[in-house]
Amino acid sequence: MTFAFCRRPVDTSPIETGYRRIATALPVPESLSILDDLQSCETRAMHGQMPVVWDRAKDFQVWDRWGNCWLDFTSTIFVANVGHANDHVLAALRQAIDGDLLHSYNYPTEIRARYLKALVAATPACAAKAYLMCTGTEATEAALRLMRLHGRHRGKGPGVVVFDGSYHGRTLGAASMSGSEDSRRWIGYQDPHIHHIAFPFANEGDNIDWAAAFHADLQDLRDRGVDPARELSGILLESYIGWAAAFFPPAYVAAAADFARAHDILLAFDEVQAGFGRTGRLFAFEHYDVEPDLICCGKGIGSGLALSAILGRAELLDLPETGLLSSTHSANPLACAAGLATLEEMERLDLVAASARKGEQLLARLRALQARFPAHIARVNGRGLVAALILRDPNSGNPDGLTASRVCEEAMRRGVLFMHTGRESIKFGPPLTITEAAIDEGMDVLDDVLADVVAGHVAP
Ligand code: PMP
Repeated sequence: MTFAFCRRPVDTSPIETGYRRIATALPVPESLSILDDLQSCETRAMHGQMPVVWDRAKDFQVWDRWGNCWLDFTSTIFVANVGHANDHVLAALRQAIDGDLLHSYNYPTEIRARYLKALVAATPACAAKAYLMCTGTEATEAALRLMRLHGRHRGKGPGVVVFDGSYHGRTLGAASMSGSEDSRRWIGYQDPHIHHIAFPFANEGDNIDWAAAFHADLQDLRDRGVDPARELSGILLESYIGWAAAFFPPAYVAAAADFARAHDILLAFDEVQAGFGRTGRLFAFEHYDVEPDLICCGKGIGSGLALSAILGRAELLDLPETGLLSSTHSANPLACAAGLATLEEMERLDLVAASARKGEQLLARLRALQARFPAHIARVNGRGLVAALILRDPNSGNPDGLTASRVCEEAMRRGVLFMHTGRESIKFGPPLTITEAAIDEGMDVLDDVLADVVAGHVAP
C-alpha cells in the first residue's frame, strides 16, 4: 500500500540555519486549499510526494510562499544537476525567449545545430549522432525501436533483454521493458520478445564469477526457449537500478558487452537518471569500461526543460527513414538553449569531478550511519552524488518501506528534502553544486531523524 503523508498541519520546532528555515506548521495551513484543489482536479497517481508547495528553487534550496526553506537532496528528481534555476541556464532561456522563436517543428534552427554539436562532442566517442525528444520514456522507446530496426537489418529476431527492478518509463514499450510487474500489469500481456532477467545484486565480500553468472543467465534464456545469439537484437541496462542506487558488477557488464559484440547485438544504457555527472562520471556506463551502442538521456540533460536524447553511432541513428523518428516538440529551441547552457555549466563548474569528490563525503556519512544502525540499514549503495539507504525491519529482516517514508516526512518537517521512493529505500541526489557544509548539515538531520523514528519518538 502507498504511504499517505500526513495532510493535517503538524507543529514544528522553529529552525533557522544558513540552509534551512522552518517557521510554520507543516503542511502549511494556508497551503491546504492548494493541496485540496490538486486533490480534486488531478489524478491521485500524481500525489505520492510530500505536501510541500514549491514556490521557488535556487541552487540546492527550495522555498515555499510562507517563509519555509528546505535543503534539497532530490534535484526535484535528478533534474537540477547544475543547481535549481541556474543563472547561466536562465540567461540562455531569456535570450531564447527574447529571440521570439518558441517552436520550429523540424525546420532547422541554429540553436539546435549548436546544441547537437556540443552534445555529441561532450559524449564519449561511441556517439556520433543524436535524436532529441522531450521525456526519458521516449528515449528508451527510441532505444527499443533502434535495437529492433538493427536486428531486422541483420536478420536477427526482435528479442531484447532487460533487468528485473529496472525502470525505463511509462509508455508502452518503456513500461514493457521496466522490471516491475506493478508497472506492467495494466498492459495485460507481456511482449514475448522482451525478456526480463534477474538483476545481479552484489553483496560486499561476495566472491562470485560474474562472467559465469551472465552466461548462466543466457542459459536460463535458452531454457525458456530463446536462442540469444539468433533472437536478440539488444540488451538494455539501467546504468544503476534507480530505486536502490545499485550498480551492476562490472565483470557482469563486461561479459554482456563481449557477448553482444560477438553476436552483433546492441548494448544500450538507460542514463536518463544516471547521466550528466550524477555518478561522478559524465555517464554512469563509464564505470563499467565498456563501449555502448546507444545511450538514453533525460532529466538532468535539460535542467528542467522537457528534453531527452538518444545518442549512438551514425549508422544506428540513421536506421529510421527520414520522417520516421520525429515528434512535434523534438529539439524545441528553448529546450536546446537549456541543454547547451547545461553542458556549458557542467564544464565551467567542473561538476563531474565535484560529484565524484562530494559523493565520497556523502557515502562516508551514510556508512557511518549504517554502523550506528546496523540492524535497520541493510545496505548503503551509491557512487558520486547518488546514494540510497536500504532499510529493513530489525526483527523480521523484511524490507521496511514504512520507516523510509517516515524518515522522509520527519526530515521534511526539519527542513530537508530526501527522495521518497515508496519502497524500502531513502535516496539522495542533491544538485551537484551542493556545498560540503550543506551535505554535512543534511546528514546531521538524517542522523537525528533516523534515531528518533526508530526510537518511536516521531508522531506517525
Ligand atoms: N529511465 C529511467 C532510468 C528513469 O529514471 C526515468 C524517470 N524516472 C525514465 C526512464 C523515464 O523518464 P520520464 O519520466 O522523463 O519519461
